[in-house]
Amino acid sequence: MQTEDVNRNNEKLDLRNCTHGQLETLLAELGQPKFRAKQIEDWVWVKNATSLDQMTNLSKALRAELADYVTLGGVEEIARQVSQDGSRKYLLRFPDGVAVECVGMPSKNRLAVCVSTQAGCAMGCAFCATGASGLTRSLTAGEIYEQVMHVRDDFNTRVTSVVMMGQGEPMMNYDATLAALRRLNSPEGAGIGARHLTVSTCGVIPMIKRFANEPEQFTLAVSLHSANQSTRNILMPGVKKYSLIHLYDVMGEYVDKTGRRPTYEYALIQGVNDNEDELGALCDFCRGTLAHVNIIQLNEVPGSKLKPASPERAEEFVARLASVGVEATIRNSRGADIDAACGQLRQRMQEL
Ligand code: SF4
Repeated sequence: MQTEDVNRNNEKLDLRNCTHGQLETLLAELGQPKFRAKQIEDWVWVKNATSLDQMTNLSKALRAELADYVTLGGVEEIARQVSQDGSRKYLLRFPDGVAVECVGMPSKNRLAVCVSTQAGCAMGCAFCATGASGLTRSLTAGEIYEQVMHVRDDFNTRVTSVVMMGQGEPMMNYDATLAALRRLNSPEGAGIGARHLTVSTCGVIPMIKRFANEPEQFTLAVSLHSANQSTRNILMPGVKKYSLIHLYDVMGEYVDKTGRRPTYEYALIQGVNDNEDELGALCDFCRGTLAHVNIIQLNEVPGSKLKPASPERAEEFVARLASVGVEATIRNSRGADIDAACGQLRQRMQEL
């Protein structure tokens, strides 16, 4: 790579989306030693610098020179909502104007962050505000990572876990998702343990197979929402082509290969997936497998006919699953008083 190539047509190297090798090459072209790359990466990935001027261990002259060749990305917070339970939901805008949501959920000595992997989503789940407006574009690894850093800096505390359960289907943006996971896991990044990094998918089977072969101990969550094929096809049309039987087999392979317990997410929807037939199908799907089921109280989406089932019904689901040997819990719904379901804040802002 020639420096002339880097800034021709204003095509600068994005420090949040370039490789270590690309940065080293640029610095070599500028007559700088290799260790400068590490110094710059520390500012980008650990200190979450938002401008070259913050990089005070680089000379002023070098910072000025670098400004001709590199950019730092950078998100702008354009809206936020704060829940009574302490959760904060942010709408962040990238330099090209695309906006996504992320959420910080504090609890004693912990900070969990939920991030988006795409702006919008093509999967079209019936209960989701994001799915209703389609896919705008996938995010880069740097953009996924930046959401975590934004929340960390806002709470001014260490992030202890990250879930990729915001807008988008992570498995449809696999390479960027994996690169972000690795950076979040790296001691030269956020240093979050792999088991505390969770990818949530609708069940994109080829990518679950690929994920099972990654060497890190990342955690997998699958949005199930129904173990009846016909109901699931209606709730989650984007994964219609992957049958539940196939999903069952692939999850078995995943467990055999990784030895890790996947989570199944099940948002309980009144009159849709909360009847006896659905409960029986869910028990059959999970019985005898290594799995944890999260029963979720549905967040109501304005304009949607789908309503949450009663808390009593959620308890009955947990008890019945336990009776067939399946571990299940009711997931504490965080931020119920804010637009906590993915896509709701973005939708709200678009309406203004
Ligand atoms: S629930 Fe997730 S996968 Fe489904 S449409 Fe919404 S963002 Fe996409």
